[in-house]
Amino acid sequence: MTQIPEGKPVPEITEQTRPFWTGAKNRKLMMQKCKRCGTLNFLPKPWCVECADRALEWVEVKPTGSVYSYTVAYVVMMNFPAWKNDLPLVMGIIDLDDGARMYGQVTGCSPEEVYIGMRVAAYFEDIGSDAAIPKFRPA
Ligand SMILES: [Zn+2]
Repeated sequence: MTQIPEGKPVPEITEQTRPFWTGAKNRKLMMQKCKRCGTLNFLPKPWCVECADRALEWVEVKPTGSVYSYTVAYVVMMNFPAWKNDLPLVMGIIDLDDGARMYGQVTGCSPEEVYIGMRVAAYFEDIGSDAAIPKFRPA
């Protein structure tokens, strides 16, 4: 796994995941949508997570949603010491208003302030020259 200069890992971008990362770089939350049943996929896959059809298209989804669940990390994950400055770190599972469930870091509030059902909105943090990562903060 490669690292950005700040010492955090960057994702391995494949042809299958590139629209997600490029979309984030362009400040858009992109997801695969099944042409057959309309389900949104997260993470990107070669098939629909609901009906297994392979006819998928990339669509922009609303960057707003609610916290479905979350956990708080108090120690560095995956041995990347650069994350030490971010601790404690809130990782959320977010129910997007458009129907997908995705995970992402929740920032802009203390771990004690996060709660199930909290309204959040995505924002995008650049990670290298051709990708950005969506994170969430209170809306
Ligand atoms: Zn489907």
